[in-house]
Amino acid sequence: MRRRLFVKMAVLAMAAVVCMAGCTIVKGDSGKAASTQDHAGDEKVGESMSDQKTDAFYISEITDEIFDRIKGKSFKDDCTLPREDLRYLHVLHKDINGEIHEGEMIVNRHIAEDVLDILKTLYENDYPIEKIRLIDEYDADDETAMRDNNSSSFNFRFISHRTKVSKHGLGLAVDINTLYNPYTKVVDGERIIEPATGEPYLDREADFDYKIDHDDLCYKLFTEHGFDWGGDWTDRKDYQHFEIPDEKIAEWYPDNS
Ligand SMILES: [Zn+2]
Repeated sequence: MRRRLFVKMAVLAMAAVVCMAGCTIVKGDSGKAASTQDHAGDEKVGESMSDQKTDAFYISEITDEIFDRIKGKSFKDDCTLPREDLRYLHVLHKDINGEIHEGEMIVNRHIAEDVLDILKTLYENDYPIEKIRLIDEYDADDETAMRDNNSSSFNFRFISHRTKVSKHGLGLAVDINTLYNPYTKVVDGERIIEPATGEPYLDREADFDYKIDHDDLCYKLFTEHGFDWGGDWTDRKDYQHFEIPDEKIAEWYPDNS
């Protein structure tokens, strides 16, 4: 319970700091968070946390403060995506034990509201997501982040010769609970698994926590919002991965080829 109180205060403090840096709150009512104060003891902390949850879900432009955290990491020196095309999401999420955590994710502005809505609905439905941290906290290293079961989106990368940018590089793909929903492909008879520690979770008939399948709320929400799921691919499987289809991306980024 103390932990929850701490989280609540941290949320308020963080919102204040970010807002001072000039955020654009798209969702929620920022004024409400400051007035939602109760000093009635631990039993009410959970309730007030619930009351203010809408305030904890917001979208911000990439402020200088946020940019400092991603520059040279996910926002590589050769990044061709304009910083103005990215948005910072602040969310809450619950782990497998129901504990509430703050989450941060950077996505493309075209999907910012969709992803915020999805993460908010997942939170409201007690859908477990272990970690939603900026991949920059892992030095933008995908394997390290996946082994830690982190969920994230933007990480700039070309997929061919400095011309075409990957969907994560555009912030138009989102990975959820990555350790338990690995990527796998057979190349020259050899099976590749990312993260390498995700091998126990390749058996999709098995029952385990965080598994994404067609009955999963996460799958339903992302596909309702127009995303494709990597678990539906036939030449490879990417169970953690939701992405905007090529046709849509061609509208937004006609030169990305
Ligand atoms: Zn992915």
